[in-house]
Amino acid sequence: VAKNAGRSQLHVHRREDRQHSPAQLQLEVDLHRALERRELELYFQPQFDCRTRVLVGAEALLRWNHHSQGMVSPAEFIPMAEESGLIVPIGRWVLDEACRHALTWQAVAGRPLSVAVNLASRQMVDDDIVSAVRESLARHALPAALLELEITESSAVTDTVQARGLLDRLADLGVGVSIDDFGVGYSSLSYLRDLPVQRFKIDRSFLVNVPHDAGSSRLVTAMIALARSLEVGLVAEGVETQAQLDFLAQQQCDVAQGFLLGRPVPAPEFMRRLRDEWLIG
Ligand code: C2E
Ligand code: MG
Ligand code: MG
Ligand code: MG
Repeated sequence: VAKNAGRSQLHVHRREDRQHSPAQLQLEVDLHRALERRELELYFQPQFDCRTRVLVGAEALLRWNHHSQGMVSPAEFIPMAEESGLIVPIGRWVLDEACRHALTWQAVAGRPLSVAVNLASRQMVDDDIVSAVRESLARHALPAALLELEITESSAVTDTVQARGLLDRLADLGVGVSIDDFGVGYSSLSYLRDLPVQRFKIDRSFLVNVPHDAGSSRLVTAMIALARSLEVGLVAEGVETQAQLDFLAQQQCDVAQGFLLGRPVPAPEFMRRLRDEWLIG
């Protein structure tokens, strides 16, 4: 109990401390109208099987093209959207758009491709998230197994009982769940072992010095082994070099995602590259 009290005090303290420049406050105001102004757009970053290099799916990444300031980084506006609660309507739009696009890929590829959608912790306490997922799947007739929801370690851990209940209900729907930014949170391994999740996504910070640094390489190898023994899939994020990809393939990592293989691109460009590059070979 004492530990919890300390934590919530820290949280309040941080909020009051946070600096809000006039420009930032204006951005927050503008975010309220970003959806209706059609300034939000989903980009998609391809994911490949490490060993075969076959395209397996994509992660949906939100972009805000602000009418006067141009592209605003998700690192800047997602926290704003979380704090204001706007992440709930925005997140539903993301979910729906992602399902819509994933179905169009399937038609072109002639085989199923999955789509991964990031869920903010604020969305996980939204009671309607499960029905929002169900409705988006139904509206676009996307098989549940092709949708993967990415949650962070911290959001799964903040309220373990609630998160557990939500994850169980999502599992009942048949959607996949992965732990994003795996390894940088504070979750205990025994807790992660018991979560009904299908994949871990290794945070890209772990890959930076792979394979030339022996210590970093051993750590990634250990994470791959951990995922294997817990019987969850493993996605490596932030793959930027051929040497990293070769290392991951050799260590039998499942899926790779990163600038080497493809940057996040708008939906039309994703479709074009799907047709012209990724289906060949
Ligand atoms: P994330 O979910 O961990 O997404 C991966 C981030 O790494 C993306 O940044 C992606 O562009 C970037 N990335 C991918 N490959 C590489 C690489 O090889 N090198 C480097 N340096 N970076 C790479 P992005 O798109 O700026 O998104 C940042 C974060 O914003 C995401 O991290 C995610 O937490 C959040 N985010 C993005 N879209 C959404 C969304 O629709 N909903 C929510 N709740 N959060 C989102
Ligand atoms: Mg993600
Ligand atoms: Mg990540
Ligand atoms: Mg993240």
